[in-house]
Amino acid sequence: MFKNNNNNKCPICLDIIDNECFTACGHSFCLECILQWQSKRNCPCCRADLKLTHTQRIIDLQAEIARLEGELKTNKVIRFFSIIGDFFLSFV
Ligand SMILES: [Zn+2]
Ligand SMILES: [Zn+2]
Repeated sequence: MFKNNNNNKCPICLDIIDNECFTACGHSFCLECILQWQSKRNCPCCRADLKLTHTQRIIDLQAEIARLEGELKTNKVIRFFSIIGDFFLSFV
């Protein structure tokens, strides 16, 4: 659906997307950018309502990954990455 092979640019900061994060409407932004934009309540691209439950979930997972990495429990980390993989697949 959104297969820009060249460079995936963030519509907010106009730079290469860092920590790519998908909104419910299917656009992608830097995690940092969309979090700052969140107060505006609609997508910078298509003005759809931003439902950031997905974003929140990514943040939760990132926090959890950081925690698991800190504990160096490799098996758990791998399991978490596979969960995230499934999660992103549902948006592609
Ligand atoms: Zn950005
Ligand atoms: Zn959108």
